Formats: sequence, structure tokens, C-alpha cells
Amino acid sequence: MTDEPVVSMENVEVHFETEGSILPFGDDPEVVQAVDGVSLDIPENDVVALVGESGCGKTTLGKTAIGTQRPTSGSVKYKGQDIWKANDGEGDVEISFKEIRQSLQIIHQDPGAALNPNKTVQHSLEAPLKLRHPDMDTFERRERIHEMLARVGMEPPEDYAKRFPHQLSGGEQQRVALIRALLMNPDLILADEAVSALDVSLRIDMMDLMLDLQDTFNTSFLFISHNLSNASYIAGKSDGRIGIMYLGELVEIGPIDEVLGDPQHPYTKALMWATPNLHPDAADRGDSPLRKIDVPDPRNPPTGCRFHTRCPEAREACTGEMPDAVTVGDDHDVACYRAYDDHEYWSSPELTDDGLDNLGTSDESTAD
Ligand code: SF4
Repeated sequence: MTDEPVVSMENVEVHFETEGSILPFGDDPEVVQAVDGVSLDIPENDVVALVGESGCGKTTLGKTAIGTQRPTSGSVKYKGQDIWKANDGEGDVEISFKEIRQSLQIIHQDPGAALNPNKTVQHSLEAPLKLRHPDMDTFERRERIHEMLARVGMEPPEDYAKRFPHQLSGGEQQRVALIRALLMNPDLILADEAVSALDVSLRIDMMDLMLDLQDTFNTSFLFISHNLSNASYIAGKSDGRIGIMYLGELVEIGPIDEVLGDPQHPYTKALMWATPNLHPDAADRGDSPLRKIDVPDPRNPPTGCRFHTRCPEAREACTGEMPDAVTVGDDHDVACYRAYDDHEYWSSPELTDDGLDNLGTSDESTAD
């Protein structure tokens, strides 16, 4: 047991050079700023749900948290050990990169692609047990696997253990992927759109199952979704936090009752407007609060606050510097000048649509 967060990210940036473009000699390649200046701690047995549109960088940030994506700058630590220094063998390495990676697992949107089509469920689930419990014999492994299959409702487990992935439904495949991740005894599971491909009726069951097993395995979840409704369900049920991402930045984060009960960032309000079951006045919520402009190109994001081209509250002061996050409530942070009492924003002229005409925009998204 340690007081260190399981994962701690500080001022993380992840920039990608765009591939495939033929550049005139001497021109620099274009760079996508997939994640920019994000800091986030994930303690033990915690749930953080990250939400944002396609291309906002949430998946890239998730992969950075579990050590499968190297940040361009900033630090990512597992229980106080810098993940990439462990990988490079730099400085004091108390926890090896191999051990770190085993402790940070992922379940994907498409479990069918993640499971080997030529291996039975039994075979797929034996691998993590052999790695984490090398002393277990064949009988003990079989018993443990059957116990887990029964726990997630796949009964009779003896039958399910013999099946191949194509003999399972999508929901059953996702349960096997979840068991496989949990049998590694992870400290954190990145659930990347893990319920998005399931029928709506099965999504709640899967999220309930994740939280039920969280207590048994004492793991944390970084849950990533483009769907605010799903994110609010899992964060709300677990007393977790919800984080809102926009164009590579974490613009608002906090406990669910604060962020959705008293949203401070105009983008959070826009996401709530687009999610009628979360809108306090769904029947009479009026027109979209977003300016009618495409999502900016992440290769050429707007200056200042990146949301200013779509923000209904934008003023000229928003186009200069990127706003720093400020604490507005209990563990509730927001990156918007409206959260500052005495910022020049309040005396700055409103930004009109005419003033935005010359900004380059695109609905193309290259990083998720
Ligand atoms: S800083 Fe300005 S543009 Fe950005 S969200 Fe706040 S009001 Fe809108």
C-alpha cells in the first residue's frame, strides 16, 4: 500500500507528425497536438471517466496513462516511478517497465479483435494466470477461470471455457476481455470505449459488472467515452470524477455532481445540451449553444482558448493565451476565463462570428 497515486501525469504533451504527406524540400512536417499540457492523478480504487468528441485526444491520453504511448514532454509516473525512465533504465528504477505494464491493462471497444480467434476462452484466460501465478497448477487455473466465468454470468462455465471467440456474443467477448485484464491483478484498467459497441440494453450491465469486480480486484478504471451519458453513469455510480476534453486539453474535471450539477465550462454545457437525458430542462432546451462552425483541425488549433471558435461566451481576451485550470469547487477544476473573478475577459468585447471568419477550420480528426 502506498500513498502515491497509481498513475500520475504531469503537464503531459503528445504531439504526432502527420504521416503520408509529401512535403516540399525544407518544409517541416505538420504536427497534431493530440494532448497538450494535461495533468491528472489517478489514485487507488478510483474511477475517472474522460469524455470528448472524436479527435479530442482522450484515447491518446489513456494510452499515455498506461505506458503504451510515450509523451512528447511531461512526466507519467506509476506509484512514483517514472514509467519512461523505467523503460530506458535511467536513474533509480525500483519498479521495472515490465511490471508497470503488467499492472496497467486495457480493454478495447472491439473485444473480438483483442481475443485470439484460434484460442478457446480457457486458453486465453490461462495466459495471465501463468504470468501472475506461476505456482498455480492446471487444476487450480481451471477452477479459477470457471469461478470468474460464473461470476460474470457466463454459465455453465465449463461450456463457455471451451468456446472460441466467434461462438460468443459481443457482450460475452467483452466479459472475457475484462476477466483477462483483471487476472493480471492490475492497478488500473483503461476501458477505451469499452461499452460503445454493445447494445444500449447491455451497456449498463457491463458498467455494473466493471464496478462490481473493481471492489474484488481493488483496481482503478480510466473509462473513455464519447458518450456523456455512459461516462456520467459509471462516474456517478462509483463516486468517481468526470473529465471533459476538448482538442487535446482537459477543460473541466471534478466529481460528477459538481461537473454536471454545476458545469462551469461552456463546452461541458454544450455536451450536456447534446445529451437530453442529462439536461435539466430537456423538453425546452432551445438551440445548440455552439457557434455553427466545424471542429477545428488539430494540426492547426485556434490560439488562446482552443474552444473560442465555437464558444458562445467567447470574448476577444479568449484569443490570446490558453487559460490555466483554476479550482472552483471541491476537487473541481476548470480552464475558462469566466472562472476568474478579475480577469480582463470581463471587460473585453464579445467575439462576433464576423471576427472568426478568417480562422482555418476543418471537421477532420486525426487523433482520438
Ligand atoms: S476561455 Fe473564453 S472561449 Fe474559452 S471557454 Fe471560456 S469563455 Fe469560452
